Amino acid sequence: MRLRYDLHTHTIYSDGLGTPFENAAAAEERGLEAVALTDHGPASPEGLSDRSFRRLVAEAREAERQLSVKVYAGVEANIVSPTGEIDATPGMLEQADLVLGAVHHPHLLVPSATPTEETRRAIVQATLRCIERGEVHIIAHPVWILEELNCRITAQEAEEIARAAADHNVGLELNARHLPRDFTLYQIAVRVGAPITFGSDAHAPEEVGRFKPLIKVARKLGVEPSETDPRELGIL
Ligand SMILES: [Zn+2]
Ligand SMILES: [Zn+2]
Repeated sequence: MRLRYDLHTHTIYSDGLGTPFENAAAAEERGLEAVALTDHGPASPEGLSDRSFRRLVAEAREAERQLSVKVYAGVEANIVSPTGEIDATPGMLEQADLVLGAVHHPHLLVPSATPTEETRRAIVQATLRCIERGEVHIIAHPVWILEELNCRITAQEAEEIARAAADHNVGLELNARHLPRDFTLYQIAVRVGAPITFGSDAHAPEEVGRFKPLIKVARKLGVEPSETDPRELGIL
C-alpha cells in the first residue's frame, strides 16, 4: 500500500523549515502525486498574513510548473469560535486550493479552566458547525486536541461528526504527526461514507510524505490509497 497524496504540510510561511518549492520537490522525490502546502492561519503564532499567503500561492504555482507533482496552495485555518468560524481571511479563502480547519486554541471556544466535559462539548460543537459552514475541505486531526486535553469523544459525538462530514463532503484527516489513540471516529466515517484524508503534517521537507504509521491504520480501516485523491473523494 502506498499513499500518494500528502494534504497537510508546513513551510517557512508559518512554522515549517522548507520553502514551498522544497516541500514540493520532496513530494516529487517520494513519488507522491500531490502535496498541499497548508500553513497555519493568522490566529496562530507565526501564522500567515495576506501578504505571506500571496507569496505561498505564487511559489506553489511556480513549483508546480517546474516539477511533476500537483501542488495545492492551502491554509490550516484555526477554528476560532463556538460557531465554527475560521481565521482564514477572505483573500485566503478566495485563493486557496485547499482549506483545512483545526482546533489548536481551545481557549477561543471555551473560557479557560472549565471542566473537561464542557471543553469536550465545545470542541465537538465548534467542529460540527465548522463542517456545516462549508468553508473547509478537511478537518485536520479531528480528535487530537481532545486527546491532548484528556477528553474522549463519545460514540454519539463521533457519529454526529462523521455524518456531518459525509453530508457536506468534508474530509476527516488521519495525521501522521498527531496519530489518534482512538479510531472510533474513523471507523464510523468508513461506515457512513465520510471522506478520510492523509497528512504528514510535515514541518520540514524530509517529513513530506512520511506516512509509515498511517499505512497500518489505513489498512485496518480498509481505506484504499487510491481513494485519497481529494478530487476523487469529491472534497475539492
Ligand atoms: Zn494542526
Ligand atoms: Zn499542521
